Amino acid sequence: MLEEIREISNPLFRAITSGIFLSTLVTIPITASLYLFNPRNEATHKLIVFVSLASAAIGTIGGVATGKSRSISSKSTASLVEEVESSTEWKDWRKFVIARKVKESESITSFYLKPVDGGNIPNHIPGQFLTIQLDIPDQPKPIIRTYSLSDYLESPDYYRLSIKREPAPPDTIAPPGVASNFMHDSIHEGSIIAAKPPAGKFVLDLSSPQPAVLISNGVGITPMISMAKAATLLNPQRHIWFLHGARDGSLHAFRDEVNAIAEHNPNLHIAYSYSRPTADDEGQYQHKGYVDANLIKSTVAPEMEKLCGSSVADYFLCGSPSFMDSLRDGLREWGVPDKNVLFESFAKAKPKKSEQSQEIIPRNENSDAIEVVFSKSGKAIHWNPDQGSILEFAEANEIYPDHSCRVGVCGTCACKISEGEVEYEEKPTASVENGSVLICISEPKTAKIILDI
Ligand SMILES: Cc1cc2nc3c(=O)[nH]c(=O)nc-3n(C[C@H](O)[C@H](O)[C@H](O)COP(=O)(O)OP(=O)(O)OC[C@H]3O[C@@H](n4cnc5c(N)ncnc54)[C@H](O)[C@@H]3O)c2cc1C
Repeated sequence: MLEEIREISNPLFRAITSGIFLSTLVTIPITASLYLFNPRNEATHKLIVFVSLASAAIGTIGGVATGKSRSISSKSTASLVEEVESSTEWKDWRKFVIARKVKESESITSFYLKPVDGGNIPNHIPGQFLTIQLDIPDQPKPIIRTYSLSDYLESPDYYRLSIKREPAPPDTIAPPGVASNFMHDSIHEGSIIAAKPPAGKFVLDLSSPQPAVLISNGVGITPMISMAKAATLLNPQRHIWFLHGARDGSLHAFRDEVNAIAEHNPNLHIAYSYSRPTADDEGQYQHKGYVDANLIKSTVAPEMEKLCGSSVADYFLCGSPSFMDSLRDGLREWGVPDKNVLFESFAKAKPKKSEQSQEIIPRNENSDAIEVVFSKSGKAIHWNPDQGSILEFAEANEIYPDHSCRVGVCGTCACKISEGEVEYEEKPTASVENGSVLICISEPKTAKIILDI
């Protein structure tokens, strides 16, 4: 019973419940014993009233004090992520049924996932993602993809993923996105998919009092909703700016939902910027154009100075690669330290036009001499640096390792390396065990590498 009381999140309700509980627990046996051994006189009645009031007061104070320390903790974000990852029994694929499918905008649809086994699901740290596995007809193996959790509840009984349909790039014969189109067209309420537990380090530290600026465009809004909801529930004193860019209202998912959160949280400041608003969008957006560092300097910074006394903040970026590149450059030029800028890439940036036209220079002059052994596939191939990462090199040679994000975030492509070393293009975000490497963002560093693929 005490544990149930500690779980009550509303402090007033918890205090009252605790007071009634302790008063009942103490008063009944004391009343019974007093009536048994003492005459029913006024002094006895007074004593009973005193005992019941005193125990109710102690219970109420205890109820306030013993509320479960909510997700706010003084632990570092990294240790919180580790704690969440190690606390769950669920380690590998688990089946989920699609309980609801909701269209959010012209291109984004949400999927509400409930565990088929009916068990509990752990909460996530706002900003984390799920990795899902799809059996898609005509695909030689299950397709694995990563999607941010787009909702936040203190005790969740579902997870929500919000997925943008990826069309084929214009002017190419390339096929449209495999997983996103399959989710939109073939996954319905009642369908079953497999998922791994929440993971990822692009997370909002709920213990921090520092203002945060959540900046997104397109489907990059998904982790930001989770962050804005969690901050509203668990740290409503913290000032949060929620900036989102869309072409127009028809592509702006979750507008009503975010507006509704802001109605309950005066410290959540929202601003939408539409690059090509239509007449229907009148009154629904605050700025015309793109979300960039100038917009933050000219609108967010003065407001933050006024409300918080300083414009030192944590910046969270999620959106298209060009959007994030421009914001990261702009914030750096403005003097925001890199440590205050966190970002999540949903896809690998395409090489810039200037880089594409340049002659490709092998990164390792002796690359011809490098041998990559894919031990499970029984292939030993000379490394070709023009093909990109080891993952892309494998695919070019008709070896198809498991992978998802291609940006070192999800860890799906991790494989054992039994000889040699790799060099990372950028520091992996996913945790990598000793003796394993992430092949989506690495290339060989030594003359020979042997991978367990
Ligand atoms: C941490 C993280 C969180 C994410 N969260 C979300 C989220 O909340 N919502 C969301 O919608 N997405 C999210 N993503 C992106 C998501 O994981 C997928 O990458 C996305 O849905 C595309 O997958 P797909 O299988 O549909 O496309 P893919 O089949 O992987 O194709 C990707 C793109 O490449 C094009 N393409 C395919 N073949 C070729 C070719 N030969 N040449 C040129 N182009 C080609 C496709 O047309 C498509 O546009 C997230 C990614 C990461 C890493």
